[in-house]
Amino acid sequence: MIIRKLFKFENAHIVRGCSTQRCSQNIHGHSYNIEVLLESNYLDSGQMVYDFGLMKLAIKELIDSFDHSITLWSGDDKGYLDSMKQYSTRWIELPVSPSAEQFSRVIYLIVERILELTVMQNAERNVTLNSIIVHETQTGYAQGFKEDAHSLLMGKIELKEIKFSSQIMKEWNDSSLWKKLLDGESLINPSKV
Ligand SMILES: [Zn+2]
Repeated sequence: MIIRKLFKFENAHIVRGCSTQRCSQNIHGHSYNIEVLLESNYLDSGQMVYDFGLMKLAIKELIDSFDHSITLWSGDDKGYLDSMKQYSTRWIELPVSPSAEQFSRVIYLIVERILELTVMQNAERNVTLNSIIVHETQTGYAQGFKEDAHSLLMGKIELKEIKFSSQIMKEWNDSSLWKKLLDGESLINPSKV
């Protein structure tokens, strides 16, 4: 069975190299809708695949990092990157361009890592991430699956290459959340949310 939770954020970017000049040459924003699709053949003690309340912890926190932030590609012009970081306190730098496709891969890898490290407390079993759907506009979306997220053909993404600004990390409940994920520390689900 697949369950799906919707998250929303407002984010700015430039998508270098794309066909549409307005997108490739201008900072602009979108109201993103992000669908996280979890899957299992089992149900937990509450007869659910995974309690939606639990998705409001680390998964929501990291996806919300993109809200009112600018997303930068580390391969962009250094002058542009430096000035964005100088004049915006909420920025995220990715090793890939912030297209909807790459957003789905990046968010897939983040949520996948969270699930890998989560110690389940309510008899959840074999909960895996089916895919991430990124709606950049009301009419178009990209859906990334495991093979896409880990595809070398689409550009290798290592979690340690994803950088959150200090302001974003400061706003998390646990400012060392990203470091913990990179270090592989367990995330213990609360027994009640
Ligand atoms: Zn755009």
